[in-house]
Parts: sequence; structure tokens; C-alpha cells
Amino acid sequence: MTKIEEIEKSMMHDTCERAFLFSLDGDLILPEEKDCSGKGSITFSEEELKHFEGNILIHSHVRNKYGGWTFTEHDINLFFRRKLREIRMVRGNIVKSLVHLDKGNCNHSDILVKLAEFGLLKNGDPESTIEEFLRSYPCLTFSEHTIETH
Ligand SMILES: [Zn+2]
Repeated sequence: MTKIEEIEKSMMHDTCERAFLFSLDGDLILPEEKDCSGKGSITFSEEELKHFEGNILIHSHVRNKYGGWTFTEHDINLFFRRKLREIRMVRGNIVKSLVHLDKGNCNHSDILVKLAEFGLLKNGDPESTIEEFLRSYPCLTFSEHTIETH
């Protein structure tokens, strides 16, 4: 099992939201960042954010009303603004991944404007709509997998 897979597995029963930053080679860059307030997002320092570009952020969504089953607006903003290569979220045994590819013609600020315009992330039952939206961009790969528990 890779370190990333070990962490995914350890996140299955998280009651606090946790995050780790990895390099593309699978090396841990930033150790555990944790938020137990239940507010639904982790606050990173400017110093930590400097390391995000080109790397992989993995975080858990906890089982409370803020812990959605897919990426939040906050997650997607962080992904684009900090130029992450990949963002992953774990909730229960579900892992979702959004990867930025070096192809396709994507304008990041355009994507963020469209997301905000449609209000896709704010009301109703947005999860499948967000994912459909993210899947429509050629520069992005959205995928999900299940953690094997045996
Ligand atoms: Zn999240």
C-alpha cells in the first residue's frame, strides 16, 4: 500500500476533518492538518499554501452536515487558485479525485465564474451537478474509487 492509500484508509472513520499534502512521487510534504470544529473546512497558513502548486492534497469529509459527499466550492477554489495537480476527498469508503491535466483549453477563472453563476455549489442537490460540470472540462479528470476494506 502506498502512503496515500494508507492515509485514505485511515480517513474512513474520521470525526475531525484532516488534510495532508503529497508530492507527485508520493512523498509527504505537509504533515497532518486537522480541524475538529465541525465547520467543514481546514484553514491553511500562507506558509503552507506556498507548497501546494503541482502537488496532491488529500482530505477527509466528516459525517456531519458540512461533510458532503463530493468537493465543495471551497475545495474547488483551493484546487484552482493554488494550482494543485490533484485534490482528493475521502468520506467513508468513497474517494473522489480531481486532477488537472496538462492538456485541453481550460480557463480557471472562467470555470470558477461559471460555477458561481449557476449556483451549482450552493443549493438543492448539487453533488451530481458539480461532478457533471467538472467532467465536462477537457483539462480535468474527475474520478472516484472505493477503499477496499479486506
Ligand atoms: Zn472538502
